[in-house]
Amino acid sequence: MSVLPVVKKDYGKLKNFVNGEWVDSTTGKWLDFSNPATTEAIGQVPLSTVDETKAAIEAAQEAWWSWRETPPVSRARLMFNLKAIMEREFENVARIISQEQGKTIDDARGETRRCIENVEVAAGVTSLQMGYNLEDGAAANIDEEVLISPLGVFTAVCPFNFPGMVPFWFWPYAVATGNTFIVKPSEQVPMTTQYMFKMIEEAGFPPGVINLVNGREDAVNTFFNHKDVKGVSFVGSTPVAKWIYKMGGEHGKRVQAQGGAKNSLVVMPDAILDKTVNNMLASFYGCAGQRCLAGSNLVAIGDVAEPLLKKWVEASKKIKVGYGLDESVNMGPVISGAAKKKVVGYIDKGVEEGAKLLLDGRDIKVPGYEKGHFVGPTVFKDVTPDMTIAKDEIFGPVVSFMQMDSMDDAIEFIHKSPFGNAASIYTQNGKWARDFRYRVQCGNIGINVGIVAAMAYFPFAGYKDSFFGSLHGQGQDAVSFFTDRKVVITRWF
Ligand code: NAD
Repeated sequence: MSVLPVVKKDYGKLKNFVNGEWVDSTTGKWLDFSNPATTEAIGQVPLSTVDETKAAIEAAQEAWWSWRETPPVSRARLMFNLKAIMEREFENVARIISQEQGKTIDDARGETRRCIENVEVAAGVTSLQMGYNLEDGAAANIDEEVLISPLGVFTAVCPFNFPGMVPFWFWPYAVATGNTFIVKPSEQVPMTTQYMFKMIEEAGFPPGVINLVNGREDAVNTFFNHKDVKGVSFVGSTPVAKWIYKMGGEHGKRVQAQGGAKNSLVVMPDAILDKTVNNMLASFYGCAGQRCLAGSNLVAIGDVAEPLLKKWVEASKKIKVGYGLDESVNMGPVISGAAKKKVVGYIDKGVEEGAKLLLDGRDIKVPGYEKGHFVGPTVFKDVTPDMTIAKDEIFGPVVSFMQMDSMDDAIEFIHKSPFGNAASIYTQNGKWARDFRYRVQCGNIGINVGIVAAMAYFPFAGYKDSFFGSLHGQGQDAVSFFTDRKVVITRWF
């Protein structure tokens, strides 16, 4: 199969989109972003200044006064426009995601589909924004009602691993419920958002309703320091998520901050092995292990360990690593040289701490892409709960294979982790599945499912160090994050 062409080889200097216009940044700080398979630079992204960020916030605040008066049905109509444009551009979006992020074109297409689904769900979300009332609520002729109102300007700070989907977890819901928005993409993968904003522009949203500010510290600090920003949605690593939550508290902003993960997939003795292995491959190796829902620990219960490990290593060896735009490839590179160094460091650490390396992806060579940031599928066995590779988020295609005596042991191990994003069980036994679902303290539970990514209507709720915030705002739960309740009491003289 041939390699698919890129949309463009070099995207040049990226711009911000503020108040309905594409603007050049005046910053002196620019970063190259590159294709992780070839390591060639494909554009430059500005780290926007405080003043540029302020200008975007002010434009969003100004736009809010009329946007909040725009009837929900008119807001939804723009979402339908956008959906149609996104369908037209579907393949281009997927190719840009693959080019700048490295994931396979199939994974990128799946991500693009999820972006569109969020637009579809957001188009209908305002029906959940209807208030409630009670006649004679306090006494005769005194009615009480609750209005569910938008708040103003919201922002999102996004990670590198899902350049398309993560902004779409938030802005369509905020905007559909009558707020205005600023997206700050990851500086490592800014092009997908740039392309999305061309579609947003074409869809006809009024100036200032949706803005794009590229950047990092200055932009994010300004979100917190500016009085007009009502809330920040963040997705990224746990240390930054914790900082974002703290900043939200200090500055009185709403925050939903999704952090890192360390997910265990538990295989019970009655699991159907071929189907289990097949299902788990995408979890451990999809997106080169750079998913917050990726499997990282593979926990075999009892004597399933030996046959499972044999099948697992055989299947892992068959994973074809290469350029994501080559449709025959199963796994692309990790995002950067620094990311590769970190993953390789963890593999070294696993060896040092005594785990047995059955498959070593450190020195993989991909013909034609020798400089790429590739790490091959890596499998450790004899991993024990105290080892670093069983505890830390590695964010690469590294499998820590562990054997335990019972599901109780596995749950105890899962609960020792500071993270609580996802956990899965593979079994045919209903009681085991029900116990696992009931007892495991993670936000996303899989039963014979290795990537616990719910459809767009659902929230995405991590526990413990995987989520910081007091309100959750995705899918239909988005209404609670992006709106407030206003109580009105009327006395009829
Ligand atoms: P990251 O924390 O390095 O960066 C995330 C965002 O924060 C980026 O936009 C970055 O520019 C910004 N940022 C980072 N440091 C900053 C600072 N000091 N000041 C201001 N802004 C700053 O995360 P990443 O490496 O892009 O993403 C990978 C992480 O995201 C992993 O830990 C993964 O588990 C997590 N993630 C979690 C979820 C989830 O839903 N829980 C989903 C996807 C990714």
